[in-house]
Amino acid sequence: MPKGVHAPEIIYEGIPASPGIAIAPVHVVARGFSAPEVYEIPESEVPSEQQRFKEALEVTKRQLIELQSRLEDLSGDNESGIFEAHVMILEDRSVVDRVLLAISKRQQNAEFAFYAVMQNFLEAMRRIPDPYLRERTADIEDVAQRVLRNFNAAGDVRPQGPDDQHVLVAYDLAPSDTASMNRRHVLGFATEQGSVNSHTAILARAFGIPAVVGLDVAVIDIIALTPSILDGYTGKLILFPTPETLERYRTLMLAKEKVRSSLDAMRGAATETVDGRPLTLSANIELVDELALVRRSGAKGIGLYRTEFLLLNGEEMPNENEQALAYSKVAREMSPHMVIIRTLDAGGDKLPVEPLTDPEPNPFLGWRGIRVSLARPAMFREQIRAVLRASAYGKVALMFPMISGLSEVWRGKDMVRRCMDELEEEKVPFDRDLPVGIMIEVPAAALCADLLAPEVDFFSIGTNDLIQYTVAADRVNPHVAELYRPTHPAVIRLIKRTIDAATANGIWTGVCGEMAGDIRLTPLLLGLGVEELSVGPQQVPRVGQAIRSLSHAECAAMADEALRQSRSQKILDLSMNLARKHYPNLLD
Ligand code: PEP
Ligand code: MG
Repeated sequence: MPKGVHAPEIIYEGIPASPGIAIAPVHVVARGFSAPEVYEIPESEVPSEQQRFKEALEVTKRQLIELQSRLEDLSGDNESGIFEAHVMILEDRSVVDRVLLAISKRQQNAEFAFYAVMQNFLEAMRRIPDPYLRERTADIEDVAQRVLRNFNAAGDVRPQGPDDQHVLVAYDLAPSDTASMNRRHVLGFATEQGSVNSHTAILARAFGIPAVVGLDVAVIDIIALTPSILDGYTGKLILFPTPETLERYRTLMLAKEKVRSSLDAMRGAATETVDGRPLTLSANIELVDELALVRRSGAKGIGLYRTEFLLLNGEEMPNENEQALAYSKVAREMSPHMVIIRTLDAGGDKLPVEPLTDPEPNPFLGWRGIRVSLARPAMFREQIRAVLRASAYGKVALMFPMISGLSEVWRGKDMVRRCMDELEEEKVPFDRDLPVGIMIEVPAAALCADLLAPEVDFFSIGTNDLIQYTVAADRVNPHVAELYRPTHPAVIRLIKRTIDAATANGIWTGVCGEMAGDIRLTPLLLGLGVEELSVGPQQVPRVGQAIRSLSHAECAAMADEALRQSRSQKILDLSMNLARKHYPNLLD
């Protein structure tokens, strides 16, 4: 190319998975989970072939344990719990025994026998309708790949980048790749595969590595060492950026850095409006290994612990003791702050409760949430007992999902009373005053909030579901995404009605759906009278700062005006006006 002439700038779009900007040449890594060679072994070699498999497992376990302690040293935290889960996969008898059997019965070489068993396992995982759980296949692939490498004692060959600073571009990255990244060299990464819910993305956010997933280009088409900008805010990989683009991003980086350090300085500060109205700002978690992120975020508690994610590693809920252990850990680590443990909300777009049941024609209107718990009293009892046991270790509250009417609340509370009596008899300590609340996420519950409020200690509005049920638009269906509007007049009227009923009965109302983390809508929610917001750990600092910048009186006046509007866009504009007025620098 003649001097002074630029290659044209190319912009690839992806999904923003971890915020931040990286400016550096790309380093491209190709990898895949490819089949090893298959060959028949003589019967006499079956024992030695099985031994080879066991040794590969042992080497892998040692590597994972080492990786885990390296990660602990690096982060001082326990994201490395992920690798404990990896070790558990290697110890899973159903996998190990099947491989040993394949080697002896089919007389296949160990690598292939292992590969075939893992492929079956992965295939089963991919069929799980929950996108979060489907993403856990990345963890299993990661472990499988390590074992395959270790058959040849080839050691640990991770995608290594060059020693210079770069943006790593890969087809996909395993969580262990992300965890062991040299963060002085890898300034950010982009992958063709992946989703925001993958562990890889979770770790990137935990470590503050800008990341984009689901890139709309085949990675092999990207030329190594091309100058690039990775934009983790909007999900872009820009190749051959022009000097103007570079300048724009450098300015943006400086501005973001300024915002970030001011937010960091405020972490843990009280979340109170400028006119003195306090708000509780807590975090949502799915897995215990997100606790480190929560602590770092400055959140004042857990407003929603989605316990259905305990189903991740099996087809059944863990037993009472296993659940009590997990809940107690969360309660202890978050103490003295409150942890709201939601009972199982499987079904809908999440993991099916009983994988062997036929798929439902309308899963969102079917067997999910409290309906399942009430129909499975033994399972429900174990979960309630586990939550009660955890309440001896910190401040714990219990919450029922998908409540549509009074009788579900009565039956749920009845089970709580029975479990309390049992534990008392068994002399097991628990908190007798443990608050019991409900999710308001079915329009019927919002409309009857005045009937429900006298029965419970708090309401938490699940806007993700409340919106979908109110406007009859599936929350995961892109064809009706246009209709799925948090500021639809019907939605905000239901929120208002819920809060009014709660206030009249002396209980508080929180919001734990995604709407709570959208700082464009913080003025609206505060104005409507919400007293608690529970958001993803990453959103905590920004939502906290938004709260501290707003006046409750001004938000309430705006919310009154919003309630008189007939169009969602107008309601959004009203809220946005206050957001722009008070924290323009926080809005992306
Ligand atoms: C909700 O519906 O808003 C909610 C928080 O619950 P989930 O997203 O787990 O259904
Ligand atoms: Mg919900």
